[in-house]
Amino acid sequence: MTPAKSEAPTRTQPLVVVAGRPNVGKSTLVNRIVGRRAAVVEERPGVTRDRKELDAEWCGHHFTIVDTGGWLSSDDPLDAQVSAQSERAIGEADVILFVVDVTVGLTDEDLAVARVLKKSGRQVRVVVNKVDSDQREADVWDALSLGLGDPWAVSALHGRGTGDLLDDVVGAFPTTSVAVREDDGPVTDADGVVDLVAGTATEEGIPRVALVGRPNVGKSTLFNRLVGDERSITHDAPGTTRDAVDTIVETPEGTVCFIDTAGMRRKSRTERGTEYFSVLRALDALDEADIALLVIDATSGITHQDQRLAERIGASGCPVVVVLNKWELVAAEDRIGILADVGDRLAFLGEAPVLKISALSGLGVHHILPAVAAAEEAYHSRIPTGELNRALKSIQVAHPPVGARIQYGVQGANDPPTFTLFTNGRLQPTYLRYVERGLRERFDLGPTPIKIRVRAKGANGGGGRKR
Ligand code: GDP
Ligand code: GDP
Repeated sequence: MTPAKSEAPTRTQPLVVVAGRPNVGKSTLVNRIVGRRAAVVEERPGVTRDRKELDAEWCGHHFTIVDTGGWLSSDDPLDAQVSAQSERAIGEADVILFVVDVTVGLTDEDLAVARVLKKSGRQVRVVVNKVDSDQREADVWDALSLGLGDPWAVSALHGRGTGDLLDDVVGAFPTTSVAVREDDGPVTDADGVVDLVAGTATEEGIPRVALVGRPNVGKSTLFNRLVGDERSITHDAPGTTRDAVDTIVETPEGTVCFIDTAGMRRKSRTERGTEYFSVLRALDALDEADIALLVIDATSGITHQDQRLAERIGASGCPVVVVLNKWELVAAEDRIGILADVGDRLAFLGEAPVLKISALSGLGVHHILPAVAAAEEAYHSRIPTGELNRALKSIQVAHPPVGARIQYGVQGANDPPTFTLFTNGRLQPTYLRYVERGLRERFDLGPTPIKIRVRAKGANGGGGRKR
């Protein structure tokens, strides 16, 4: 074991310590968490390493992460001899990630590590690594026997489950570490870099997002979580007479504007009485939105009102991301039914992404902004004519139409992508739906509405179809 080279620095941010026996994937996990910032990459697995501190960030929370690489004495692993460095790291940790390997199962060494960690009295998360596919999920629960709480299934190699784990980890930090910035002036981030987003009103090119949903589905909770984790500013919506407050948030996926968040920001008891109006306001916001987040309370399933709101979003023509909130309250056996319900009752929303989250705990919330960014991108897609026609050809080869065929297609417009198909006769509506699905799949258009127009030779044009 290499002796300690220096004293621990005074800590300005939370400390996450990664522990576990060799080869379980600790350094892979650290690299996954640190991402592109990884300064040093360990090449050989299982080698003894010095204690290495790296900076990491998740949803605006900055923290230090330490890989306790070779912390077990190799002579007598069962004694779990902890090096002085590792011991100090563990003693200072805000959260310890205790990594075990699902492909090997629990070993005596794991149990020895668990005993040391239990004694430390720190917050521990049991991370079951190398869960690369669903098949492994069943084995994860063995780790309950370590007596350190519910296990987290991840694949450090592929990134599976690491976002949910990080959601939980940053949630366990002392509250002073939260990097919420809501003031109007320029703000300074942890590195002392001035952030100039604040102040300006009508930023162009910033996607405008409307949060829509029935009362009590969790919109405010979600909004505050989305904003709380990011840098945000608010401003009164310019050029309108309504008492609207928009919130601009800087995120790793780019800048996003949440429209008319007045009610969500300062939700009080009195405002709870005016639910009817809050729904109307949300619908107004929809007209200005580039993207809608339809929030649904998963515990009540898809209600008639949810369907009405979804129809209204459909009519507005903007892409939608469906958010099933309060997912943690849904019993495992009911989950498939609810997802099937979304497919059945919200079918007219096309292939909108459906996210399962808990706004209250933050689970899954990190998927929302990337989904918004993907929807925005899909909405603006431009498919080159050559590629479109190659796709139309292979779609028709895979499943030839009856009676007529598509001879040629062009994307006449974007926002949303609008295609004109030239045919030599009438195509069945079911066939057009098949073509639409094919185009969505090939060009990743899932999150956006698309329009398809048909120009049939001989007939005077076909009808335009949306979604
Ligand atoms: P450490 O000694 O605990 O730091 O382990 P390493 O990070 O060096 O990983 C040990 C070995 O496990 C390496 O060959 C990794 O590529 C592999 N590994 C790490 N994470 C995963 C994973 O999630 N899935 C799979 N299949 N292999 C992994
Ligand atoms: P809004 O009317 O749509 O803005 O809903 P709120 O954000 O005010 O939430 C309504 C209630 O649902 C509150 O009591 C929240 O604490 C609760 N809530 C919101 N999100 C979740 C969640 O993910 N899980 C659970 N269990 N409760 C939630």
